[in-house]
Amino acid sequence: MTDKKIILTGDRPTGKLHIGHWVGSLQNRVNLQNSGEYENFIMIADKQALTDNARDPEKIRRSLTEVALDYLAVGLDPAKSTIFVQSQIPALSELTEYYLNLVSLGRLQRNPTVKTEIQQKNFGESIPAGFLIYPVSQAADITAFKASVVPVGDDQEPMLEQAREIVRSFNNIYGEVLVEPEGYFPPKGMGRIPGLDGVKMSKSLNNAIYLSDDSDTLAKKVKSMFTDPEHINIDDPGHVEGNMVFTYLDIFDDDKEKVAELKAQYQHGGLGDMKIKRYLIDVLEGKLAPVRERRNEYAQNMDFVMNMLKEGSEKANAVATQTVQEVRHAMGVDYFGKF
Ligand code: ATP
Ligand code: MG
Repeated sequence: MTDKKIILTGDRPTGKLHIGHWVGSLQNRVNLQNSGEYENFIMIADKQALTDNARDPEKIRRSLTEVALDYLAVGLDPAKSTIFVQSQIPALSELTEYYLNLVSLGRLQRNPTVKTEIQQKNFGESIPAGFLIYPVSQAADITAFKASVVPVGDDQEPMLEQAREIVRSFNNIYGEVLVEPEGYFPPKGMGRIPGLDGVKMSKSLNNAIYLSDDSDTLAKKVKSMFTDPEHINIDDPGHVEGNMVFTYLDIFDDDKEKVAELKAQYQHGGLGDMKIKRYLIDVLEGKLAPVRERRNEYAQNMDFVMNMLKEGSEKANAVATQTVQEVRHAMGVDYFGKF
């Protein structure tokens, strides 16, 4: 192992990645990767995806390669980052089991992100037990690689807090083995990008613009976007707050002066929704076209993609196995030495 700081982060293969992932997490990762200052582990969290998709394994399997293509398209590079698949690393399950004993059911039920997700997913009384405990399995993912830096969106803050509590508790009881992680969050306003409907953009909520959307799909989605219901005629004064078109321009248009000008015009009246949407389509197309092209190129070479995941998983497995051996030793359950 190097003495570089270690990064662990990842995504659930529940669909293709969207522009919220891009600004909320992927761009940070690519910058950190290219700085050369870190050892990078990037995990496709298929086991976590199964916690709320157990009856649809085909979706997870299909999405695994979609997410891998999205990674390559935005500039994650297997020569600089270890890209791997969660389920192929058995040590992660073992760590999860040990950590579960350090966490109370009440603490898990209070996690605000999990609470929101439970409501959105309409589980009712039938919350899968694996879903409720997924923050513990995330703590296993992070600590297995001794990661100290975790680049994620704002919704993951409670997971980081949970992981830190587990680390402190473990080290207290069994000795200093685990490393306490820090979240690395995107710039203000980019950590929880709203979807076309105004709630958090999510793969699972059908409200996303995907990195892989073609030009027509992109244009159609922007045209369907929620603006200001009181802006009926072009000459009516309009609201820019809560208006998704302006929210996206704030995030994606580098020409801030132009955005300020358009906002003033919209608020004053005289700027039509269709015109401003066409402008947004151009801005997004400018950013997404190169990503889409790179993605299409990699999609021609799926052997390369699968091999990247296989080699990454082998490397990650060696690191996590080493940690679990240290953990067993600290807990005194290494009766037969390394096993
Ligand atoms: P799902 O609906 O299956 O949970 P998701 O869209 O929430 O999918 P995840 O795989 O759960 O995506 O999240 C991957 C990473 O992307 C996390 O770091 C998360 O914080 C970040 N992220 C997810 N959605 C957004 C968003 N809308 N804005 C900014 N960051 C996001
Ligand atoms: Mg999510």
